[in-house]
Amino acid sequence: MIKKVLVANRGEIAMRIFRTCRVMEIPTVAIYTHVDRAALHVRYAEEAYCISEDESDTSYLKPDLILEIAKKTGAAIHPGYGFLSENAVFARRCEEEGVIFIGPSADIIAKMGIKTEARKIMQDAGVPIVPGTKEPVADAEEAKKVAKEVGYPIMLKALAGGGGKGMRLVRKEEEVDAAFRMSRSEAGNSFGNDAIYIEKYIENPHHIEVQVLGDKYGNVIHLYERECSIQRRNQKVIEETPSPFVKPETRKKILEVAVQACKKIGYYSAGTLEFMMDKDQHFYFLEMNTRLQVEHPVTEECTGVDLVRDMILVASGSPLPYKQEEIEFRGAAIECRIYAEDPENNFMPSPGIIRVREAPEGRNVRLDSAAYAGFEVSLHYDPMIAKLCTWGRNRESAISNMKRALREYKILGIKTTIPFHLRVLQNKTFLKGNYDTTFIDAKFDIEELKRRKNSDPTVAIIAAALKHFEGEKEAAARATTVPLVGESLWKYYGKLQMAVNNY
Ligand code: ADP
Ligand code: ADP
Ligand code: MG
Repeated sequence: MIKKVLVANRGEIAMRIFRTCRVMEIPTVAIYTHVDRAALHVRYAEEAYCISEDESDTSYLKPDLILEIAKKTGAAIHPGYGFLSENAVFARRCEEEGVIFIGPSADIIAKMGIKTEARKIMQDAGVPIVPGTKEPVADAEEAKKVAKEVGYPIMLKALAGGGGKGMRLVRKEEEVDAAFRMSRSEAGNSFGNDAIYIEKYIENPHHIEVQVLGDKYGNVIHLYERECSIQRRNQKVIEETPSPFVKPETRKKILEVAVQACKKIGYYSAGTLEFMMDKDQHFYFLEMNTRLQVEHPVTEECTGVDLVRDMILVASGSPLPYKQEEIEFRGAAIECRIYAEDPENNFMPSPGIIRVREAPEGRNVRLDSAAYAGFEVSLHYDPMIAKLCTWGRNRESAISNMKRALREYKILGIKTTIPFHLRVLQNKTFLKGNYDTTFIDAKFDIEELKRRKNSDPTVAIIAAALKHFEGEKEAAARATTVPLVGESLWKYYGKLQMAVNNY
């Protein structure tokens, strides 16, 4: 039924979806803006259409144009994440205008897009929600009243929120006025909807989410949980599965609750229920993302399921190709989001041309990326340039593989967060697996990266190596029987490499 797929997105996720289309032998359609004309997704697709009106037009939010291209090419639309993926009006137009939208129903997207609605629906479906309001609060005064009932600290959150924006933690009444103002203006600017509601702030929480997959015949399965508590400013940067924190009995409960709720609301396609979990393993529904998520690869690596393939199958009316019992979970997987940002300089954006790119390869490594040497990372779009994911028989092995892969990964020309990830992966708390969402912002020593830069032993090692090589050369000149590049020299070089890598 789906004969072609148009991806209404760019970057790594466009590539991710196209790759599955190629496996399924479905022709693909790319859209691109003027600044993206040299992007990988444009080259990879069978057809590509520029959607910029002029050179300065960088917008991918062009529902009319995208629908027109889909109709003209006879393609179904996969929205990826971000952009139009959670835009209910767009999904509804697809439904009405006979274009297959590869995602859930417009109705569900609309309801879940408003967090207070989602909270009501989930509570009715038997899911515990974070204590707080189920309606927006009118002003700071009302917020204070509610806060007294719920108890401080509270979170002021945007009804239409996403991407960690529009939320403010408030610890005492004196802070409400200013926080309310900031929350409201950030929400208005980011989402065109400045409505605010209140949640109790869960102290030292874990962000645990459940991947679900449903079809149009009422079948819903889960694909286990993901731990996404390594966050910067409420945005995920490292994700893993299984969660090192969740106990087996809690896991059983949370997975069951998620599946039951999705059955009740008639959810189909891929989706994610996000939860906050406190230190005693009580969990509360946070929000539902009605789309493919950035961190879906870790789930795919441990279950073998291709979520994009199943989204396409479900959208074309097929039943789910497997039952819950057929899902086999193996080992552990971890994902690092690689951003074009300078971790040594307060994560400042680092746009520019990628001069050198050496991608990690080998066993148990998966790289989802759209970067190549010569590609210009533009300030106009999300700074995430790649997702590096590794698998292992257990968590320790997945982490060792990730460290190896990060060390092999070379990107020159722009700064990336690769050094930051390496530091996190060597942190004791992280290794123990008992970190919560406050870990990076409150407990992780980001300044350490800077200090290391100033006393960089790599430079010293290289200088020492050069001296040594000079010495070898001299020795070789004195006694011609000594091979210039003998085994011992290579061994020595190997040791240097190890020293540099282990730094
Ligand atoms: P959430 O944190 O809300 O669960 P995800 O972690 O799945 O969401 O990230 C989705 C976010 O990714 C979007 O809100 C947006 O900021 C960003 N994004 C959107 N499109 C792209 C893209 N093409 N490439 C990289 N990042 C994107
Ligand atoms: P978004 O739509 O921006 O992804 P979420 O509601 O999913 O917003 O929250 C994103 C992150 O913000 C969570 O993973 C968590 O770190 C933090 N957060 C949100 N609400 C709460 C809360 N009530 N208590 C504690 N932390 C919260
Ligand atoms: Mg979220």
